[in-house]
Amino acid sequence: MAVTSLRAEATDLLARLIRVDTTNPPGNETAAAELLREYLEANGVACELYARTPERANLVARISGTGGGPSLLLLGHTDVVLADPDEWSVPPFSGEVRDGEVWGRGALDMKSQVAASAVAIASLAREGFEPSGDLVFAATADEEVGAGFGLEWLCEAHPDAVRCDYAINEGAGDRIVLGDRAYWICSAAEKMSSPFRIRVHGRSGHASMPGIADNALVKAARLIERISAYRPEPQLQPEVEGFLRAVLGEAPSAGQALDRARALGRAAAEIVEPLLAPTFAPTMITASQKRNVIPALCEVVVDCRLLPGQHQKAVEPVVRAVLGGDVEYELEWMEAHGGTRSPLDTPLWSAVESFVEERDPGAKAVPTCVAGFTDSHWLREAFGTVAYGFFPTRTMPVEVIAQLIHSADERIPVDDLELGLDWLRHAAHTLLA
Ligand SMILES: [Zn+2]
Repeated sequence: MAVTSLRAEATDLLARLIRVDTTNPPGNETAAAELLREYLEANGVACELYARTPERANLVARISGTGGGPSLLLLGHTDVVLADPDEWSVPPFSGEVRDGEVWGRGALDMKSQVAASAVAIASLAREGFEPSGDLVFAATADEEVGAGFGLEWLCEAHPDAVRCDYAINEGAGDRIVLGDRAYWICSAAEKMSSPFRIRVHGRSGHASMPGIADNALVKAARLIERISAYRPEPQLQPEVEGFLRAVLGEAPSAGQALDRARALGRAAAEIVEPLLAPTFAPTMITASQKRNVIPALCEVVVDCRLLPGQHQKAVEPVVRAVLGGDVEYELEWMEAHGGTRSPLDTPLWSAVESFVEERDPGAKAVPTCVAGFTDSHWLREAFGTVAYGFFPTRTMPVEVIAQLIHSADERIPVDDLELGLDWLRHAAHTLLA
């Protein structure tokens, strides 16, 4: 293998990964897993492919520990969301490198971290790194849809392949500046995706004579108004408390948290706001399929995100009280995903802190909770893994990153890719020395 910088190696691998179209559905992640296997085996890293169906393989690579130390998993998903070429300035699966940035679907979410993880483990293997515990890299399928081909399935069908004490996944890594200090955000928890369906019944009839019918859609509208106007009592989660304590120098009360965050600026307020309480957003509605028929049934889907540790059973009476007693309805929870957290006083947290101190003197690592959710919860639920979302970015501003993920012209500065790679190598050295 020609001598080249790790930066160039990661750039090249990311560009090649982007050129493999792993749009999910259908995914076809096996093509990405094969590419990674070829690269890793050429660097002396043992790999295994695990697939529930042949075209949707997960790759697991490992440097076995010399004994006694904890295990560290570098986790990334290889599938991406749909890209409409008409919206893009470059073909979305080109992997073009232009003006110091790698362009293409997955450049941020999250083939960059996948490429950096692969180069981290490959370079450590080449250097003869002997970890005290296993250093594992998993490139998994099907995160974006979550139909049971990826990490969820691996944890169940091949737990020994992915069991780990610590894991580094996607979820955060942004650098924000508040006042005259910089903060690096690391996610240690996620809310629970907990949507529910409300079914309202009425009586159908011809729309020209509304008086003879009982319009389920009109009745549902009352419930929609109530749920969207509802403002739950704020609560201070440990991650938000840790964040506010770091940026304010003290932890405010739950009731003051949002105002205090707003006073620091928009970035802080945007981080804190969705994490103080469960959220309820009505997003889908179905009623009559014919313009002139008054619907006897109306179904409303509410996207609901509970705080980590909150349970549907406990929240349901609150939701019913908000909906009131004058409209008859049925309420059905559709799923419960995520809602887990990892503690903050861990060696992995210390590794985040020491990396931040080293690369950005005076800056501070701060915790957060993800308002959506990632694959980390599968590991926390199956193995009690300490899993954080941290892939540091510095060159591209946070607001730009937020606009580009799942959107057109997704791209990553090579400087940020290299920074992420440096972090993963630092974590391996720090935890597995
Ligand atoms: Zn992702």
